[in-house]
Amino acid sequence: MEYKNVHVLNHPLAQEILTKVRDKRTNQVEFRKGISRLGRLIGYELIKTMKFKEITVETPIAPAKGIEITEKKDVLIVTVLRASIPLTDGLLKAFPEARQGIISAKRIELEDAKAVNYQFDIKIDYMNVPEIRNDTVLIISDPMLASGSTMVKVIDTLLKKSKPKRLILASVISCPTGLERVLKAFPQAEIITVAIDPELNNKGYIVPGLGDAGDRSFH
Ligand code: URA
Repeated sequence: MEYKNVHVLNHPLAQEILTKVRDKRTNQVEFRKGISRLGRLIGYELIKTMKFKEITVETPIAPAKGIEITEKKDVLIVTVLRASIPLTDGLLKAFPEARQGIISAKRIELEDAKAVNYQFDIKIDYMNVPEIRNDTVLIISDPMLASGSTMVKVIDTLLKKSKPKRLILASVISCPTGLERVLKAFPQAEIITVAIDPELNNKGYIVPGLGDAGDRSFH
């Protein structure tokens, strides 16, 4: 199914890295490296969608036409602890001048999440996010868009008092439940993901997914 506002990063290099991070034999260090490399590629892909203006510079020889990516000037990347740390690390390679914020959102695990239509309670323990301005391009970094419960809660919290110019979700693997839930609540959201997997299991993990992204990065 095609979703409006959802872009799948089909670049073969991204798909090869994703294959490696999905593999359960990939160890913690290689997993983090892979997610970080994906963050960089996602960042480069996002830049393709940003507004720019034409400028002229003087080379030592003559004037040369070039561009300046104007929308890149006020990028704010919000890391959803803890699984997003390596993804943000990669995004920062594409947006070295970005401001950063942190939010810790924990989903309360359920034995049978399917029975409640994958509606998890989300606990926000900590938040430290700088000002979101009207011309801010807000990028929320979260590798797994599963039920969408965490993402909806995070966006809700972030947008309480602000209206960014663009609201972008950077994800590695998404699934229809999460995409639909987020886009229903926030139709203005733009989502970039490396893959859309078909479903969630009873506990709300993406199938086939890559397992628990936080555990794979930090255990
Ligand atoms: N969070 C993860 O880390 N993995 C999933 O599959 C779903 C949520």
